[in-house]
Amino acid sequence: MNLTGANFIAGVPSQEGTATFTSVNPRTRQPGAVRFHNATAEEINRAATAAAEAFAQTRLYPAARLAEFLDVLVEEINALGDELLTTADMETALGLPRLTGERGRTTGQLAAFAKLLREGSYVEAIIDTALPDRQPAPRPDIRRMLVPLGPAAVFSASNFPFAFAVCGGDSASAWAAGCPVVVKAHPGHPATSELFAQAVNRAITRCGFPPGWFSLLQGNTAEVGQILVQHERIEAVGFTGSLRAGRAIFDTASRREHPIPVYAEMGSVNPVVILPGALATRMEALAEGFVNSVTLGSGQFCTNPGLAFVLDGEQTQPFIDLVREKMSARAPGVLLNESIERGLSAAVTTTQARPGVATLTGGEAVAGEAFCYANTVLQTRAVDFTADPLLQSEHFGPVTLLVVCADLDELLAALGALHGNLTATIQGEADEGALAATVYAVLREKVGRLIWNGFPTGVEVVYAMQHGGPYPATTAPGTTSVGMTAIKRFLRPVAYQNLPDALLPPALQNANPLGIWRTLDGELTKVAVR
Ligand code: NAP
Repeated sequence: MNLTGANFIAGVPSQEGTATFTSVNPRTRQPGAVRFHNATAEEINRAATAAAEAFAQTRLYPAARLAEFLDVLVEEINALGDELLTTADMETALGLPRLTGERGRTTGQLAAFAKLLREGSYVEAIIDTALPDRQPAPRPDIRRMLVPLGPAAVFSASNFPFAFAVCGGDSASAWAAGCPVVVKAHPGHPATSELFAQAVNRAITRCGFPPGWFSLLQGNTAEVGQILVQHERIEAVGFTGSLRAGRAIFDTASRREHPIPVYAEMGSVNPVVILPGALATRMEALAEGFVNSVTLGSGQFCTNPGLAFVLDGEQTQPFIDLVREKMSARAPGVLLNESIERGLSAAVTTTQARPGVATLTGGEAVAGEAFCYANTVLQTRAVDFTADPLLQSEHFGPVTLLVVCADLDELLAALGALHGNLTATIQGEADEGALAATVYAVLREKVGRLIWNGFPTGVEVVYAMQHGGPYPATTAPGTTSVGMTAIKRFLRPVAYQNLPDALLPPALQNANPLGIWRTLDGELTKVAVR
């Protein structure tokens, strides 16, 4: 397939900007052949305006029509074939097995949203029928449902070139909601992004959707994203990446004359608490599983376990030694790009300089052609951790900080000092239930997902998934960016009071023509309103 290096504004290739950049192969640091053009302010304006024009049509599309688009998009992504995998591998060094799995996850979540739409109950129809005889005043008929929010800006993540990118979870959930999408591609994988854009545009043509349903903006400067978020026709933002960028985008959106919601998923260190019983009964397996999780994907997961707490005891030092040995014995993986390598180096150096922090292994970039950082284990005491918020900084790579707690009080104080995270994990034995309950009670207030005897990497795309958490894990702790309820970020409720049946949307009409689940006078049911 021919790559152009252009932006795609409502289906039309456009390269008006003079500033250009290329892909960089993380294994060799060699630039790719195609030059990609930074989107200009005028191109961004055209994309956002076309999205608003498209929304005038798509906001009234029935769910079945949106579902058809998602299904056709799956076909078009699959039709990209191996070129999608090899292109993404060249740009990210994530490897073909991982990328093959990630493609399946990406098409799987598009298909899952199509299924959700066809079932139809996601609009959360609620009907409270009128009480004309109520005293002292009659109650009106009130019916409420969710409707699409409007054009969404989506920022691709560097570390998921498929699943959190052009056709990833943010775009899939916004499209499922009925919202056009303008994607700011990540400069780490511009060629992959263009391939996806071609697939989306083909799906749009096949389904007869308005071309403004999707635009792709390329760019390697914060300016492109900033202009997009400030555009008055953009109504919501989905973002995955650093705390610095996510916070900047959130602040910009809040300062707008017409502020908009920003669903930013940012830094997380995903604490793991290892209880004494687990250490005593399965130390080897625990160390192996932990190191697997820390080094998976070169540690470049938002769910990477960057922090582990152990209570001081007989098994503690042997466990720490085992983790150190296993981490140093593994060959470090390739990192996504130079900025990740530089950022990781700076973050670890800052942590190493904090009082009470020891480096057990690693702690430096690995010289050579590839972007690479040594598998790193840092250690500190709970008292130092509790006193120093900087020790909660994310080290985006194969790095973990072990925190040794003298007793339960120190452990609970350290956990109580935690900032918001995506996940928290407890490793324990069945007879440690009371202790685990005490620890979970503290952790629940800090995270979006609690895990028992597992590891946080690996996020299932299912209805019940919660991939979010209190700030700084996200800017919107009431939402998730993974799983079917992610659609709610791009919907808003509207209540209809005393409207005649014919003026109501089908989801709220008396006969329940869509056959969906509705809450009728407090009861969940599919029956018609009499
Ligand atoms: P990033 O720096 O957060 O960038 C993500 C996207 O936001 C890029 O498209 C970037 O555009 C844009 N952006 C950056 N600053 C912006 C600003 N002030 N205003 C508007 N847009 C802005 O993420 P990254 O490049 O993937 O990696 C950098 C660091 O982010 C990593 O080292 C890691 O610490 C963290 N990270 C965390 C996660 C996670 O899930 N927790 C995932 C990925 C990365 P440009 O690049 O064109 O400037």
